[in-house]
Amino acid sequence: MKHLALGCIADDFTGATDLANNLVRAGMRVLQSLGVPTQPLAAELAEVDAVVVALKSRTVAPAEAVAQSLQALAWLQAQGAPQIYFKYCSTFDSTPQGNIGPVTEALMDALGTDFTVATPAFPDNQRTVFKGHLFVGELLLSESGMQHHPLTPMTDANLVRVLQAQCRRKVGLIDYRVVAQGEAAIRARMAQLRGEGVAIAVVDALSNDDLLRLGQALKGMPLVTAGSGVAIGLPPNFGIAPSAHASQLPAATGLQAVLSGSCSLATRRQVQAFIQAGRPALGIDPLRIAAGEDVTAQALAWAEPLLAGGPVLLYSTADPDAVESVQGRLGVEAAGALVERTLAAIARGLVQRGVRQLVVAGGETSGACVQALGITQMKIGPQIDPGVPWCHAKMVPPPPADHSSHEGLHLTLKSGNFGSDDFFSKAFTMLA
Ligand code: ADP
Repeated sequence: MKHLALGCIADDFTGATDLANNLVRAGMRVLQSLGVPTQPLAAELAEVDAVVVALKSRTVAPAEAVAQSLQALAWLQAQGAPQIYFKYCSTFDSTPQGNIGPVTEALMDALGTDFTVATPAFPDNQRTVFKGHLFVGELLLSESGMQHHPLTPMTDANLVRVLQAQCRRKVGLIDYRVVAQGEAAIRARMAQLRGEGVAIAVVDALSNDDLLRLGQALKGMPLVTAGSGVAIGLPPNFGIAPSAHASQLPAATGLQAVLSGSCSLATRRQVQAFIQAGRPALGIDPLRIAAGEDVTAQALAWAEPLLAGGPVLLYSTADPDAVESVQGRLGVEAAGALVERTLAAIARGLVQRGVRQLVVAGGETSGACVQALGITQMKIGPQIDPGVPWCHAKMVPPPPADHSSHEGLHLTLKSGNFGSDDFFSKAFTMLA
């Protein structure tokens, strides 16, 4: 029986897609699971090299994050994964209590391993680690804006210190000079650190070449912890090279639609560009939803006759002033939940009407839509823009009203600030 090569545990939803995207670009065929699967991988096993289990464990209590992660580990081990990759944010988002440290140590205990590495480095995305300090572009993490993050303020760029504060085990450093010398030097440094009682080594990386050298030295290590960057160096250890085959999805079928609940700058530009290109677009007004109008039914009635003519856009996307005014009247959370629920209901209605290519803009909006569509697993396909691949989900409820065949759904989940201005058109052109 063929086994998985790599089993991955990601501490949030869009971070999981980011990791999956990097693995696919390095040649692995990847399945992303939303939450821990309840069934074994059976038939899909022959078709995938890695599974990324997406959790929502970044900011929950450490004990809960540990419990979720151990559940994911047990499932991945049952599928035969010989190496586990714990993926966190490239800005090392955590609190003094965790969850990076506690989850890492719990996974080490469960795997019976006494040594692992930790590096959020992702040079393609301007995240580098130098002498144990994390830089975001030109700035230290602690001066990058992340010091003001509402949930996980990062006020110290020294990752050895940050991680040590979260761990019982000793944390050390493999610095850039060692990494530059390659696999043998990295392995020698690991042995030295181990001898000094270090269990977790923060690793410097300034470039993709550093990550590729590090990747060679991680061959056979039961647990790797990192951002998504290290993923580019692991597939060669399993004899896997980049190939178009890795990102192959079933042929696209059906009608096309875009749903946008993101109010981020990049998304606002994308909505404008789509409208300016003359494509049909309908704004969704939160106040009309709040007033009790059946906005979902209205939106679907608007879309239905247009779908045959190409992609349509339904958006609640609005400028900061408009959003603030709505939030002032409805409350921030209530407004968000109301819009998410409506867009998710529209997503179901569109799929029932034959949409099989769906672009969703917005992280929270994506979560709501995917949940409403009952999607639990997606095969990761080709990258549209950095960090945003097309995905394919086997068809799930709701069944199509027209009894058309269950071909499956192509979808892409775009977090707010990703993608070029023409993303909403470009995505469909690419799929064709
Ligand atoms: P992003 O990835 O850009 O952060 P999200 O979908 O994660 O996008 O978050 C956007 C949030 O704003 C969602 O909760 C969404 O329901 C809410 N929202 C969308 N449009 C509006 C609007 N016009 N007024 C108020 N809130 C809105």
